[in-house]
Amino acid sequence: MTDNDDSIKKMAELLRRGATMLAQSCPQCGSPILKIQDDLYCASCDRRIVVVRSDEEAESTAVKTMLPKLRETLMRKLQSLNEIIESETDTDKLTKLANLMVLLLQALHKLGTIHED
Ligand SMILES: [Zn+2]
Repeated sequence: MTDNDDSIKKMAELLRRGATMLAQSCPQCGSPILKIQDDLYCASCDRRIVVVRSDEEAESTAVKTMLPKLRETLMRKLQSLNEIIESETDTDKLTKLANLMVLLLQALHKLGTIHED
């Protein structure tokens, strides 16, 4: 018996036990994906499939994992900006620096509005 027969047998067995076959196919081998309760499973690869629902979701997950780092960077920039402003006396430069500070603070505030799970 080949591996292929084996996976078809397994698939049939799972279907009998209430699994449903999805229109999606396994990204690894192209076999139809089975849904068992909340799990997606490929009988050919004999593994669970993790499906990222959309690009947008993947992106927001990536952003979320980056949040602490972003916040840290912004804080560091604000700190050094604060030191520069302290010793700066030129009004034109101060105006630019103040604008930059506002931008950094806005960015920091925006980060705060993104919820981390
Ligand atoms: Zn597969």
